[in-house]
Amino acid sequence: MKSENKHIVVVGSINTDMTVKSGKLPRPGETVLGGVFFKNQGGKGANQAVAAARLGASVRMIAKVGKDAFGEESVASLAREGVDTAGILTDAEHPSGIAMILVDDRGENMISVASGANLALTPEELGAVEEIIRSAGIVLMQLEIPMPVIEYVARMAKQHGATVILNPAPAPKQQLPPELLAHVDILIPNQTEAELISGTAVNDYESAAAAAGKIGQMGVRTVIITMGAHGVFVYDSESGNSEIIVAKRVKATDTTAAGDCFCGALSVALNEGRPLNEALDFANRAAAISVTRRGAQPSLPYLHEMSTR
Ligand code: AMP
Repeated sequence: MKSENKHIVVVGSINTDMTVKSGKLPRPGETVLGGVFFKNQGGKGANQAVAAARLGASVRMIAKVGKDAFGEESVASLAREGVDTAGILTDAEHPSGIAMILVDDRGENMISVASGANLALTPEELGAVEEIIRSAGIVLMQLEIPMPVIEYVARMAKQHGATVILNPAPAPKQQLPPELLAHVDILIPNQTEAELISGTAVNDYESAAAAAGKIGQMGVRTVIITMGAHGVFVYDSESGNSEIIVAKRVKATDTTAAGDCFCGALSVALNEGRPLNEALDFANRAAAISVTRRGAQPSLPYLHEMSTR
């Protein structure tokens, strides 16, 4: 693949995650006592950048944080993970992003995000970081930054010959722009996101095939629907081929960042020039490790923890 030896450039969000793990999730108006508190680095962009860096890739991040202690801590943490932070801008007006996460004993979660500086990133500011995008073999994005930025980066990345991977998470509230989908090489939705994008409920492999087919018709070359413990459904709209890759059997304790781990790992393997089926297996194995551990970034595996490559 042409992207071999190039950087993975993640354009996305940086948040500080405040997590409370308790016996059950509260209902509206209910207070659940007895939880345990954790503070961790998060944001889907940062999570995916760290996932890729821990698995051995050269990763550069483009993002925006506030001019505050949370932002400083996040950037320092990314740098410690080996992520190049030169493309991370600072916003004097908006605070750094925060996510409040509730997790229960079964690993189910609820998340509320105050995006802050993440939503203050504009396409006009990206001229300063065009060099970084130009260095990309793979550009990996999510939906926690403004849509005009995502569209602009996707267009620029395609011009420079990079592979564009979009993880449409969190689930989009409105239809993704057709011009964006036309620039996306690989779309990685989960079941909910696939349903929102395609209009077809995804409950099993058959309905995943129907949803993936519709998304393929929107202009995306490869659609990968992640299906939790069931693994992934992959569809290539050019050949019409589809495949199911079952998940690894593990005891899930916290599925936070499983999708982020999957996207980061898949990018690493593809950036190394490995074929899609190998990359999917690598991503499945990495994500299976992540669900056995608590939190977002603390759950992401290192290359040496992957038993076979
Ligand atoms: P999800 O975002 O829940 O669809 O999960 C993303 C990916 O993480 C899946 O495609 C699997 O590779 C992995 N994964 C999630 N949940 C589990 C689980 N319970 N057991 C094994 N792998 C999982």
